[in-house]
Amino acid sequence: MKEDTILVTAGRDPHAHDGVVNPPVYHASTILFPSVAAMHEAHKQPFDSPSYGRLGTATTFALEKAVAAAEGGYRSIAVSSGVAAINTALMSFAKSGAHLLIADSVYFPTRRFCEQVLKPLGVKIDYFDPLIGKGIEAHLRPETVAVFLESPGSLTFEVQDVPAITAAAHARDVAVLLDNTWASPLFFKPFEHGVDISIQAATKYIVGHADVMLGVVTTTEKWHHKLWKTARLLGACPGPDDCYLALRGLRTLSVRLRQHQENALHIARWLQQRPEVSRVLCPALPEDPGHAIWKRDFLGASGLFGVVLKPVSAAVVAAMLDDMEFFGIGESWGGYESLAIPTWPEKCRSAVPWEAEGPCLRLHIGLEDVDDLMADLKKGFERLTRAC
Ligand SMILES: *Cc1c(COP(=O)(O)O)cnc(C)c1O
Repeated sequence: MKEDTILVTAGRDPHAHDGVVNPPVYHASTILFPSVAAMHEAHKQPFDSPSYGRLGTATTFALEKAVAAAEGGYRSIAVSSGVAAINTALMSFAKSGAHLLIADSVYFPTRRFCEQVLKPLGVKIDYFDPLIGKGIEAHLRPETVAVFLESPGSLTFEVQDVPAITAAAHARDVAVLLDNTWASPLFFKPFEHGVDISIQAATKYIVGHADVMLGVVTTTEKWHHKLWKTARLLGACPGPDDCYLALRGLRTLSVRLRQHQENALHIARWLQQRPEVSRVLCPALPEDPGHAIWKRDFLGASGLFGVVLKPVSAAVVAAMLDDMEFFGIGESWGGYESLAIPTWPEKCRSAVPWEAEGPCLRLHIGLEDVDDLMADLKKGFERLTRAC
């Protein structure tokens, strides 16, 4: 089955639900059984047969099946947010004395969880240069249990050599975790590149409409039970309406993402020509240092990228971003709308300092018309120049 067909059909069973196209939303805590024997039977099949609301209903299972098919993994586990998905994955490997290797460019809350939760529990944490590739070998210790990747990196968009890292890690029986949110399940196929556990902040492109918090962890068969056990212990279950909306978002992911890509590349190229811009951090651009690996491993680029401006003060950047008409100032991304925020990658690094000639922005390019978006940015640059 081709990918677009998978996105439309996976996890659906209309004839089990009176012919209704989308699976119904089951609001449930208690699940009732006709007999004690039936209750025991349900507990033996936790992925297909509901036994308690927290462990999922047909709504949750439908989403999990569809995301697993899209990511190309064995099974998925839906949780209450992207951060819950990251924490579930990390907690599966956390024990006193265990060593975790974390890419220096990870999403900041991933680092914060390592620093503020895992380290005090006795887990050893080291951060590594996201461009390390095969060099990860030198950082693997006998007590290393997992390597955590995110490619491209949050805020700075360095592309990691995932196949080289997974080869080195697997040679030492170390698991590889990847935050695959930027590419979505469509533009990077984690399991084809050796990843063991893939994480999606479904809040972003899978939901796609800026109205739901949700995370999904997808694994190979080998790791499924371990991750599922941790998720069950942590109890960060998703709400049924959120699973429903994520599943609905997933059905149109492919068409939305292609348009995000087209719009983002158009604007990224235009920004490269602007006198106010020093460089654009987007691996889909041939000038980007990560372009060769991106082209080798990725199937496309999403709508999120960074911009390094020529040196100006933070107040001048704020003058540009305040009063934008179409670009909202706000966290998150992956919805249908454009966003622009200032970022400070230098505050999120420890292994390799972030050095840039000017302040950084992060843009999410939505589904508006690119001419309107460029006109909005142009007016922003005029405010920037006036404020200098
Ligand atoms: C937003 C984001 C997350 C966290 O997702 P939430 O649903 O907001 O908790 C994780 N990873 C990346 C790369 C993100 O951008």
